[in-house]
Amino acid sequence: MDKTLLYEGKAKKIYSIHGKPDIFLQEFKNSATAFNGIKKDEIEGKGILNNKISSIFFEYLISNGIPTHFLEKISDNEMLVKKVSILKIEVVCRNIAAGSLVKRYGFVEGTELKKPIIEFYYKSDELGDPLFTEAHIYELGLATESELNIIKELTLKINKLLKDFLIQKKIKLVDFKLEFGKDSKGEIILADEISPDTCRFWDADTNKKLDKDNFRFDLGNLTDAYIEILNRISN
Ligand code: ADP
Ligand code: MG
Repeated sequence: MDKTLLYEGKAKKIYSIHGKPDIFLQEFKNSATAFNGIKKDEIEGKGILNNKISSIFFEYLISNGIPTHFLEKISDNEMLVKKVSILKIEVVCRNIAAGSLVKRYGFVEGTELKKPIIEFYYKSDELGDPLFTEAHIYELGLATESELNIIKELTLKINKLLKDFLIQKKIKLVDFKLEFGKDSKGEIILADEISPDTCRFWDADTNKKLDKDNFRFDLGNLTDAYIEILNRISN
């Protein structure tokens, strides 16, 4: 497969494929980063784990009617995806208080929220991905009101589907970050990845963290946690 590197991010590389204008190849890297790239490490096997985990989640969501960019897992650390133009909005959905909800608003970590909270962050490394409101999104021309309504509706559906799936595997879905893009027909679809890099997963019985917080705060072994997630969702 003839490919050209288009973009190298913190966790993945995106390639165009010769003769396939609507398809990108997404390669998962072994890099781990946190705090907007201030903390960094290479972790052998992480790319493979995230590609496998993300593929399982995308297949599950597609089989439940969610439009996503996922086409096919083609190797241990690569998947084919539909090319989209990514909306510069990071959509965070929260079920249980953790992370910036604790730091910013004083929630007690682990508190179950009455209903899911959706937050928007401006996808801009230079600006440090600031939290922003719908008014900012419209003013910056990042999405229209009807596009944002679709995004919110899809996010809540994805949350319900993932929560229901994961609790059967004894995993609590604490919170997660999604990215959406527009495909060639202008349809809004789920893109990027769904992995322990972008979700908080806690063991349902012990609240043990099975996600990137192990790396962020040196709590435990990242690889062991990601293998645990892969094993549970594979069975
Ligand atoms: P970053 O460091 O910007 O988070 P990543 O390492 O996550 O980057 O690399 C993936 C990049 O590719 C992200 O910027 C993401 O928005 C973008 N992307 C994800 N899926 C698609 C897609 N289907 N089409 C185009 N771009 C995509
Ligand atoms: Mg990313």
